[in-house]
Amino acid sequence: MPDPANLFPPFSAPYSPDDSEIAATLLALPALTTEQSARIDSTATRLIEAVRGEEGGFGGLEDMLREFSLSTKEGLALMVMAEALLRVPDAATADRFIEDKLGQGDFAHHRTKSSALLVNASAWALGLSARVIQPGETPQGTLGLIAKRIGLPAVRTATRQAMRLMGNHFVLGETIESALARAADHDEPHHHHRYSFDMLGEGARTADDAARYFESYAAAIAAIGAAAGDRKPEDRPGISIKLSALHPRYDALSRTRAMSELVPRVLDLARRAKALGMTFTIDAEEADRLELSLDVIGAVFADPSLHGWDGFGLAVQAYQKRAGAVIDHVHALAERLDRRITLRLVKGAYWDTEIKRAQERGLDGYPVFTRKAMTDLNYIACARKLLALRPRIFPQFATHNALSVATVAELAGDGGGFEFQRLHGMGDALYTRLHEDKPSFACRTYAPVGSHRDLLAYLVRRLLENGANSSFVALAADDSIPVAALLERPQQTIRTPDRAHNPRLPLPRDMYLPRINSRGVEFGDRAALDDLRAAIHGQSAPQAQVRTATTEQAAIAVALARTGFAFWSRTTADTRANALERAANILERRMPRFIALLQSEGSKTIDDAVSEVREAVDFCRYYASEGRRLFAHDQPLPGPTGESNTLRLRGRGAMVAISPWNFPLAIFTGQVTACLMAGNTVIAKPAEQTPLIAAEAVALLHEAGIPDSALHLVQGDGAIGAALVAHPEIAGVVFTGSTDVARSINRTLAAKDGPIVPLIAETGGINAMIVDATALPEQVADDVVMSAFRSAGQRCSALRLLFVQEDVADRMIEMIAGAARELKVGDPCDPATQIGPVIDAEARTRLDAHIARMRETARVHLAGEAPASGNFVAPHIFELASADQLTEEVFGPILHVVRYKAADLERVLQSIAASGYGLTLGIHSRIDDTIESIVERLATGNIYVNRNMIGAVVGVQPFGGHGLSGTGPKAGGPHYLPRLATEQTVTINTAAAGGNVGLMTEE
Ligand SMILES: Cc1cc2nc3c(=O)[nH]c(=O)nc-3n(C[C@H](O)[C@H](O)[C@H](O)COP(=O)(O)OP(=O)(O)OC[C@H]3O[C@@H](n4cnc5c(N)ncnc54)[C@H](O)[C@@H]3O)c2cc1C
Repeated sequence: MPDPANLFPPFSAPYSPDDSEIAATLLALPALTTEQSARIDSTATRLIEAVRGEEGGFGGLEDMLREFSLSTKEGLALMVMAEALLRVPDAATADRFIEDKLGQGDFAHHRTKSSALLVNASAWALGLSARVIQPGETPQGTLGLIAKRIGLPAVRTATRQAMRLMGNHFVLGETIESALARAADHDEPHHHHRYSFDMLGEGARTADDAARYFESYAAAIAAIGAAAGDRKPEDRPGISIKLSALHPRYDALSRTRAMSELVPRVLDLARRAKALGMTFTIDAEEADRLELSLDVIGAVFADPSLHGWDGFGLAVQAYQKRAGAVIDHVHALAERLDRRITLRLVKGAYWDTEIKRAQERGLDGYPVFTRKAMTDLNYIACARKLLALRPRIFPQFATHNALSVATVAELAGDGGGFEFQRLHGMGDALYTRLHEDKPSFACRTYAPVGSHRDLLAYLVRRLLENGANSSFVALAADDSIPVAALLERPQQTIRTPDRAHNPRLPLPRDMYLPRINSRGVEFGDRAALDDLRAAIHGQSAPQAQVRTATTEQAAIAVALARTGFAFWSRTTADTRANALERAANILERRMPRFIALLQSEGSKTIDDAVSEVREAVDFCRYYASEGRRLFAHDQPLPGPTGESNTLRLRGRGAMVAISPWNFPLAIFTGQVTACLMAGNTVIAKPAEQTPLIAAEAVALLHEAGIPDSALHLVQGDGAIGAALVAHPEIAGVVFTGSTDVARSINRTLAAKDGPIVPLIAETGGINAMIVDATALPEQVADDVVMSAFRSAGQRCSALRLLFVQEDVADRMIEMIAGAARELKVGDPCDPATQIGPVIDAEARTRLDAHIARMRETARVHLAGEAPASGNFVAPHIFELASADQLTEEVFGPILHVVRYKAADLERVLQSIAASGYGLTLGIHSRIDDTIESIVERLATGNIYVNRNMIGAVVGVQPFGGHGLSGTGPKAGGPHYLPRLATEQTVTINTAAAGGNVGLMTEE
């Protein structure tokens, strides 16, 4: 398959440019004439009147929103219920779930305002259920009462019925055949009624998923084609496909694989659509996949076998800042190939996800606009561009916004060569009115097809998107908002470029002010990834010589650190914080250097290495900022008049910091900078497997202004660490590593005479995740695979023991194993690798032995493959009969699974508590009551709900556990620095010199 990069220049545009620059360009576009504006007002007003005029105006969704607004507890509960209920197989969990959600709202007193069938049925079912569940009753008690009164099955049936009704409203059919039959019923050819069918589902996580989605697209194309009859080409039905459904690793870092495996699949489907004269549209998905999607689209579109077909196309999102550039790129492609292409202009369905991802990734800006009016403004600018590119491009305007529709209608004129699009179940009244007014305008309905179980996640996205109070549909549904307000043009709202960015949404860098967030890299931005890779590649081998210290040298380091304490402990907090901030800035600049080191010495993948450098940067800035807060000023305390009382924190002395190989930069830097910030000097002893990273980190800290006398590096193995700990003059130990070594440090410290010094130990854990039947399998698969296998399972926080409710266990385990099978094990320097080698041969031998034992005693769900040479360990998944078969932390890519009965959750919690560890815990459930009771019951240090359980962020998820997992306080948390300091109070009798002047002059 030819790589499109060789045929056409690849798409390239700044990923997240400044909003104001774009606004300046958009605001400078020629204004419409007064006549045009007046016509837009009049068309939009008629459309709004249509949707407000009749019950069920927009087509049901708005009625739902009116009834159960998302800003109410009922609305939110309804949404969560819709998303999960139908996939819960067992009655007990379904009942707990229903009760949990209904208990959150006031459904019983909800009087329906609307007579629409959909809302009535929902309100009836929900009201019925809610009336029998009184707020304040305990789950167990309530369940008993309900069962007695009307029987829980009746409640369950009614609620499920309401959910089904909603499903029925938004899905054209559960199978393509039923959808086609329903479409035929609606068919009125003179209305130019067109369909684009969309097979519902989440993105593929496994090869089997991808194959299943392929088959379902292929079957749908055949069925749609057969039913199309002899309609005119432009009226023929089409299909919309999602690239994420066709490949389990459709991500930027897996580009080579995606190109070689995904392109042939899409091409195959496109050829089938061409043969049947259908349209074929590739949906727009997340921003980080945009460049990859355009590569795939370019390769497919360029294939000569599609020549002579006008039906191929794609969707473009106007909320993305790169939308205009995408249109130019697609147009150039079509020109070169001398083909027509269809382009569906949407605003975009993943806005909240995009904002969150950019924040998590620490990007310089957002790839999407942050003000709704900017999205609307860009939509119209893109519409103008597209209309001008007719007929090379056939534009399709997908929106339910009356003002956007009216503006496009005005700009389009009567020349044709475009169509509107709407979602099935929405926008009926609007488009019916448009058709009455402009009969020549065609409208295509995007019609989801699939089982209701698959639909509901889709439905929730639609409800969220349209229920948000910025959404046109939600505003239109609110009769108190005057029509004139809905007619305000986006350029009136924005007015000047400096108002283009939403001031309430700080840039990712500014999220944690006063400290600056660490800068990350977006791998979906090819230019950024290429630059980083080139910079990593250009790094020279480290110069530092690693000299293992002798016991005498270790003792000298302690003596020097003690001497250095006299100076360092007297520096101001500001001086120390400034040095740490300088270190953070240098580290950020030297990210490629440290990534290269982390890869060569620690076998880190690029993703892990970037995260690690960021964590180290965050530690420096966080402790600097905390240090300023805690150490800069004495804290005044209350007391009697004539006396001043203050509390001061000061350094303890020379601290020993012993760090592990699994985070050779981040944990090392975290320990050292915290000790320094608290006014201590430090003797740092890194793991013997990763000495070079430590050497460069220490050199960097010295360069940033930490005096040599304050920070001393002592290289060596456990024996040197033990010698440091045993030294009589150290002021404390900060340790991260195994529980056994922590115990031995504790004994050594206890055995010494002299001052009793503190030990802060962070150790491991047998970390568990609990997944109940309400969890979304795809989300679980993503989070489990990430938590168990990322960093080859060599994180203290990694998931070791997965508890899955037995009713859903088969499906969950199959999906997790299938997703894990897609992980690439290999050279960590290859960006496509997800699992590099384990740290050394010793670790590999230990893990291999565990695998061999498990193969004998447990059920094997996955025995992955890994290169034979090198310290590779393939991912494995074993099912245990009971949790107590796992007695120790297994530090590698090995996941253990245990099934549990819903009624036995308490036993699961007991077994987790009984392990004695308490580091991280994952929970996947939609039942708040379950989540709360687990959190209440277990004192685990870091609990993650409905997400992965690794990658704690400094200052956001302070990290560390209790029991066998560590002493606390948490690293990167507010209690860490005080633990490294001594406290001193100073009391001054201010009345001593001749009386209490302050008091006597009060009156
Ligand atoms: C036929 C059809 C096909 C579709 N296909 C796709 C697709 O392939 N991919 C896809 O992503 N979406 C798709 N969508 C959904 C579409 O992107 C819109 O989300 C949806 O139609 C709402 O847009 P609107 O013009 O109707 O509503 P409006 O209420 O006018 O606009 C909502 C838009 O504004 C954005 N927005 C909200 N707040 C802000 C803010 N603060 N800053 C910036 N923007 C903000 C929202 O994210 C949303 O995109 C499709 C929609 C239709 C009708």
